[in-house]
Amino acid sequence: KPERRRKPDWIRVKAPMGETFNETRKLMRELNLNTVCEEAACPNIGECWSKKHATVMILGDVCTRACAFCNVKTGMPAMVDAQEPQHTADAAAALGLEHIVVTSVDRDDLPDGGASQFVKVIEALRRTTPKTTIEILTPDFRNKSEAAVEAIVAARPDVYNHNLETVPRLYPTIRPGARYYASLRLLEQVKRHDPSIFTKSGVMLGLGEERMEVHQVMDDMRSAGVDFLTMGQYLQPTPKHTKVIDFVSPQAFDSYAAIARAKGFLLVASSPLTRSSYHAGDDFEKLRAA
Ligand code: SF4
Ligand code: SF4
Repeated sequence: KPERRRKPDWIRVKAPMGETFNETRKLMRELNLNTVCEEAACPNIGECWSKKHATVMILGDVCTRACAFCNVKTGMPAMVDAQEPQHTADAAAALGLEHIVVTSVDRDDLPDGGASQFVKVIEALRRTTPKTTIEILTPDFRNKSEAAVEAIVAARPDVYNHNLETVPRLYPTIRPGARYYASLRLLEQVKRHDPSIFTKSGVMLGLGEERMEVHQVMDDMRSAGVDFLTMGQYLQPTPKHTKVIDFVSPQAFDSYAAIARAKGFLLVASSPLTRSSYHAGDDFEKLRAA
């Protein structure tokens, strides 16, 4: 039986239950929407859903890639749901979201990688809930990224997020379908096309990366003009997934955050339970109010 390391005390999460939690789940089912909160087995689901914060995952619940850290199903995805853009907007309206995070599985099978669905979602949100700020977290769109990014940027999301996930040395084992420099270029491209869009990226720690490598990733992100950074502890979703190499202490997360701020990131979220979309709305609000 594969050995699983015991989680330290600082990885404590709220149990998923309560009335608001159940209402959030019911709404997502009724609208036929998937969430990354459930599909990625996010440890914060108890907390987020009881505050009606959910991250919608568009383009189905089956991914064409199989990253070693990710709990999302891999295989041949289903047809794109034409209702999904409006349903996403309906969910934002029903939940009263001031800020919505929309992500997707990778759809290497689609001619545009799924970019047009992101555009439709942004348009539906702008029509239905014009005050809601929109953060999208996209795949790398592989060799279709130029056109995909151009189309999405033209639809003007408020925040464009694309995660680097880990340090370049670990890509072949952790993110085998992706290329570190292609992801960096994508972030740079967003900023070049429209500097008024905030760009955001993140890494998971605990996969065997060295401290200096993390600092280098921060420098690379800043060179690509990335504004916001998230860092969180990798947790192994099932024994089939890649193992946790170490549990990074909360103090080490704080120290990374201080370094990141010194490097010029406008927003930094760094703690064991930080995820791309964790408190994304609250942090963005604070920045806009400042
Ligand atoms: Fe969902 Fe993000 Fe909260 Fe996790 S942190 S439960 S993915 S909104
Ligand atoms: Fe998971 Fe994204 Fe990798 Fe697909 S591309 S397996 S959704 S991390």
